[in-house]
Amino acid sequence: MKLFSSMSARDRMIQQHLIARGIMEPRVLEAMRSVPRERFVLEESRTQAYEDCAMSIGFGQTISQPYIVALMTEKLEPAPGLRVLEIGTGSGYQTAVLAALGMQVYTMERVKPLLDETFERLALLGIRGVKYRFGDGTRGWPEYAPFDRILIAAGAPELPRELLLQQLVDGGVAVLPAGAMDAQTLFQVRRQGQELLTTNLGGVRFVKLVGEGAWDDE
Ligand code: SAH
Repeated sequence: MKLFSSMSARDRMIQQHLIARGIMEPRVLEAMRSVPRERFVLEESRTQAYEDCAMSIGFGQTISQPYIVALMTEKLEPAPGLRVLEIGTGSGYQTAVLAALGMQVYTMERVKPLLDETFERLALLGIRGVKYRFGDGTRGWPEYAPFDRILIAAGAPELPRELLLQQLVDGGVAVLPAGAMDAQTLFQVRRQGQELLTTNLGGVRFVKLVGEGAWDDE
């Protein structure tokens, strides 16, 4: 299998962890093929950057596993030009994938040094079209609301109904984890008027969303 062994680690990740597990959308696969994940993990773990697992990015936070990033991105129903609020910038890997899809990303992070590092990282990679904000994302970003899409990369105890009804456009889509800290569910939420239609995407484990209407920082 010469062909297989000469595949890059990134191509192998796309094939084994994404396509083999049902990620079908070509634009999502292409976006993930274009982002160098090794640049988003800690220096000492670069050789494992394409394994399908979450990894530490310092400050008690993690970069999500590639399959979950792909699933969330696909279920967000991405399209160029759409405005997306991302809560939980972390390493900026998901941010970069959304930007690669031509989306206008508004990303919020509550850990200042992480946000600063990520800002620099994405600038070095030449990724533009991203607006960054330091602060508690559970309140959203009212100045730029409503958004076409909302993606939350940290787990809240419950669905953030108020945020979604106030800052997601009618017909818009959100993807987020919610539930008990050790048993969260990933949801796709579609807003229809004052209703939120939810689809269960399966069990997940994210770091906690810390802030108003979410978990305490302890
Ligand atoms: N998608 C990111 C995953 C980040 S982990 C990646 O690929 O790297 C989740 C992030 O959410 C953490 O960095 C954490 O600090 C942040 N976070 C938690 N609660 C938050 C809040 N209320 N507002 C903004 N960011 C928050």
